[in-house]
Amino acid sequence: MLEDKNTQKTSLAELGEFGLINHITKYFKAENATTVKAIGDDAAVLDTSEKQTLVTTDLLIEGVHFDLSYMPLKHLGYKAIMVNLSDVYAMNGVAEQVTVSIAVSNRFPLEAIEELYAGIQLACNTYNVDLIGGDTTSSTKGILISVTAIGKATKEDVVYRNGAKETDLIVVSGDLGAAYLGLQVLEREKQVFKVDPNNQPDLDNYTYLIERQLKPEARKDVAGILKELEVKPTSMIDISDGLSSEIMHICSQSKVGCKIYEDKLPLDPQVISACEEFELDSTMVALSGGEDYELLFTVPIADFDKIKGNPNFSIIGHIIAENQGLNLVTRANQEIELKAQGWNPLKGE
Ligand code: ADP
Ligand code: MG
Repeated sequence: MLEDKNTQKTSLAELGEFGLINHITKYFKAENATTVKAIGDDAAVLDTSEKQTLVTTDLLIEGVHFDLSYMPLKHLGYKAIMVNLSDVYAMNGVAEQVTVSIAVSNRFPLEAIEELYAGIQLACNTYNVDLIGGDTTSSTKGILISVTAIGKATKEDVVYRNGAKETDLIVVSGDLGAAYLGLQVLEREKQVFKVDPNNQPDLDNYTYLIERQLKPEARKDVAGILKELEVKPTSMIDISDGLSSEIMHICSQSKVGCKIYEDKLPLDPQVISACEEFELDSTMVALSGGEDYELLFTVPIADFDKIKGNPNFSIIGHIIAENQGLNLVTRANQEIELKAQGWNPLKGE
């Protein structure tokens, strides 16, 4: 994982811009009915007819958002797509197209770009998304990737951040904090590797954490599960920056407060053991860790029986009046105010 696997090297200059575009896009085939024209013209053409169109973009920069010393390029390509699909799913929509723009320095050979696109293609195939275009250019240093995802939803299905109501239940899919701890493990191994490149890291106890960091999966399934349960969320957001920051977005846009219960936060056993090892508070990690790409949403309290006991979801609290604030109820039954700074020590720049 810490080694550069590229043995063969073909320089990008040799290939030229059009050669590179042809090379990386030739294995992509558009499958969705809404894709009328994909790669190859001045613009892609979509036909979303009666549905509403969802559009979202993220920009990832080497050294800021990822570190190639432990992030294999194939994983990076996969993750760049996941980050964007997650935003479409957070609107309760179906993602159908992506565009991918890259800027690469000549330090990267063609084989590196192939790896990146292998990850992009795996993500597109797995999530039924068409690559419909992008742009390719050079950078003076490092690699930049910008992905735009396009999705659709009926007007009735779209869920915004601003619909949470007093007494609604606060629900989260999956578990929290693992991706952040995966990053801590990888950072530690990077330091060990620097000192002794022959040291073979033993990562068996951290497989889930590392997978959550390097190969996150966006929650494409949640919209379908909720539909089956006949539950429509009143608000929803994906967890990219950490639970605490995301619940703040929902509360401020919905003009409500919240109560989150510490003992309800879903934690994987590997998160609990790694927190002990790294001497980190698991609640802090769950609240501020980020990059989990789970969905956080609110549902009317009348839906309690439908959500309770569903293995995909945890009910972690409820919505209260705006003037009652944003609160964490601790295991000792104390109420602490959820604060961006107070609960953001992990993000120290
Ligand atoms: P233009 O000159 O109109 O910008 P380009 O030569 O940049 O066109 O791109 C040709 C086609 O290849 C377009 O359909 C464009 O969307 C697509 N494309 C360019 N770069 C990428 C990329 N990195 N990934 C996917 N598609 C790309
Ligand atoms: Mg172009």
